[in-house]
Amino acid sequence: MTTSTQIQYLKGIGPAKAKLFERLEIQTVEDLLHYYPRTYQDRRLNSTPNEYNSESLVVFKGRVLRTQQIPARSVLIFKAFLEDEKGQQIECTWFKKRTFRAFRFDPFGTLKKDFHINNEVWIIGKREDKNNFFGNKVTVDEHYPAADVLTKLHAGRLTPIYGLTEGLTNKQFRQFVYEALQTPSLAAEPETLPPVLLSKRQLLSAPQALKAIHFPNSLAELESARARLAYEEFLLLATAWGIKRTQTKILAKDYSYEIKKTLLTPFREQLGFNFTNSQKKVINEIFKDLCSPRPMNRLLQGDVGSGKTVVALCAMLLAVENGYQAALMAPTEILAEQHFLTFKRILKGLKVNLAVLSSSTKAAAKKKILKELADGKIDILVGTHAVIQDDVKFHNLRLAVIDEQHRFGVKQRSKLKEKTAKLDLLTMTATPIPRTLALAFYGDLDVSTLSELPPGRQPIQTESATSKLAYDRVREEVKKGRQAYIVFPLIEESEKISAKAVTEEFEKLKKVFPDFRLAVLHGQMSQAEKESVMADFAAHKTDILVATPVIEVGIDVKNATVMVIENAERFGLASLHQLRGRVGRGEHESFCILVPQHAGSIAKERVDIICATRDGFKIGERDMHLRGPGEILGTRQSGELEFKAGDIFKDRDILYQAIEDRDELLSQDPTLTKPEHFLFRQKLTELYQKNWHLIDLS
Ligand code: ADP
Ligand code: MG
Repeated sequence: MTTSTQIQYLKGIGPAKAKLFERLEIQTVEDLLHYYPRTYQDRRLNSTPNEYNSESLVVFKGRVLRTQQIPARSVLIFKAFLEDEKGQQIECTWFKKRTFRAFRFDPFGTLKKDFHINNEVWIIGKREDKNNFFGNKVTVDEHYPAADVLTKLHAGRLTPIYGLTEGLTNKQFRQFVYEALQTPSLAAEPETLPPVLLSKRQLLSAPQALKAIHFPNSLAELESARARLAYEEFLLLATAWGIKRTQTKILAKDYSYEIKKTLLTPFREQLGFNFTNSQKKVINEIFKDLCSPRPMNRLLQGDVGSGKTVVALCAMLLAVENGYQAALMAPTEILAEQHFLTFKRILKGLKVNLAVLSSSTKAAAKKKILKELADGKIDILVGTHAVIQDDVKFHNLRLAVIDEQHRFGVKQRSKLKEKTAKLDLLTMTATPIPRTLALAFYGDLDVSTLSELPPGRQPIQTESATSKLAYDRVREEVKKGRQAYIVFPLIEESEKISAKAVTEEFEKLKKVFPDFRLAVLHGQMSQAEKESVMADFAAHKTDILVATPVIEVGIDVKNATVMVIENAERFGLASLHQLRGRVGRGEHESFCILVPQHAGSIAKERVDIICATRDGFKIGERDMHLRGPGEILGTRQSGELEFKAGDIFKDRDILYQAIEDRDELLSQDPTLTKPEHFLFRQKLTELYQKNWHLIDLS
């Protein structure tokens, strides 16, 4: 018997049962070992509450005091009175329907055998009366005589629960898995993970992990087992894709960068703050890419407000230092405009020529910009997707930065891809939706993550309240010299209708706040109008900005401390989080107030999540749980993202570890031909045989 033996030869299975296993795609002993529990039940004695232990679950070991059979009209009742280890007496009850068979056979025959007086028995059941403090009446789900050798698999431990098919029970299944774990060759099986990584990440060995994922001795051991198995899954797939990527990445840049610091140093000196450690790390990663002979294709993700803009600016300045042009694209005109103004401010006095271009740039101005771009007089072009139109010709564009990349439409995205194939490309997002993760993992993207916010940020108080309370807060803050946003949702996804609605609300709000300075902002206004409204707000010439979600991304006004979101139930989680990110950008305590109109249950849940959660990554995760993976993932990815042990959200840290290790592994041994990688390579080959069109290891 080895792990590759067919399942039917495992003790107690045979050909008929093997058919049932086939339904679960289990054919060999190895398949069985890799069929991990769906969940666990904490059946340890006196276990403290945890995720595997529901309140009504009763687990104890008791000594049988007496039993009793009660005849009744339609049901038969068997009772056993047990004394647990604390000396408590507990009454256990079983019910059986009266059937014809029941007249001829004793339906409680086996029970009576197991419940001889003085026998010790484990009971798994439910409290009959939850209000009874001692809970000493129990309906029994399962019982296991303490004297049985195999009882240790089912009771007195964290017990695995499997997702099964009709005809198989968890009890049997546990015993088969236990049997499979005894396979002699298992312990002797050589390690597939490269030994260096195994010790670097302090992982359990494969047999240890398999034992512990099925029969963990503690929650900690279960976590270690899951970590090892998840890591292995991630590493295998990441490596497969890494190999694929090196095979396709045949382009070499015909230009190179040198870190001269002629712009970078003065830029840093006049910036007014120090980079966070996270920013430093990410800037290094980007510079390394830029200086490498291959084009960069990197995704920078970081929560709202984590400071992605200055990171992007560093990259662009490196390009400019080397005499190249750089472009930054933003999904909205307002954001492009703001980036332009920010850059102008931060780069004051430095020899960097900036320009901004959008679809509403006037013809004459556009003509001038296009000419200067072609002549190489403009160093950094900021704009909307207008930047990638065919009439825009650069002199020597080398670096493209795409801000809030998820906000670009599919068409624009493919056009971007086309246009930027031979450039260094940096994409940025604050919404690590699964697709983004998937891209990071499988696609030809590298990922950098900003994992901390700049120092001194105050958490944003988030709550759900009525308009009245929200307006009180606005009034209070404005009186203190702060500013506020009041945002209305898009109506029927139409900017035009929304513009009208928000204008009406604006008129009403002017009456609510007669002594404050209000302005309105929506997508139907001209570029110049939008610009002046934003500039006035930034300069604190207005107090309250009434807007559609045009301000959702990127807007950065430090003095704004209140965000009121009207009809909050109409916004998705990601949008709510983005909107909230517009406040709390300076040293003042900030507030986000959600004002729901008619909240259905999902809407309410969304509002609750935003109130309770600050972490953009967690919100992305919840978004997927609420909307379902199908809606967020393309169908193509969803199949590929099925891991048995790993969870791309929960195990994000492990995922990034695996990607990091993959990179190191492949940089040392690109074709995995070193002897210490032989088994890993073999496993990889085995696993991706089916996907051979994707990976060529030959
Ligand atoms: P996002 O990642 O959401 O695009 P931004 O780049 O707009 O965030 O940065 C948010 C604000 O934080 C900006 O006002 C920026 O100037 C500021 N900021 C960025 N990095 C730092 C830092 N290291 N220390 C202090 N403030 C910073
Ligand atoms: Mg930003």
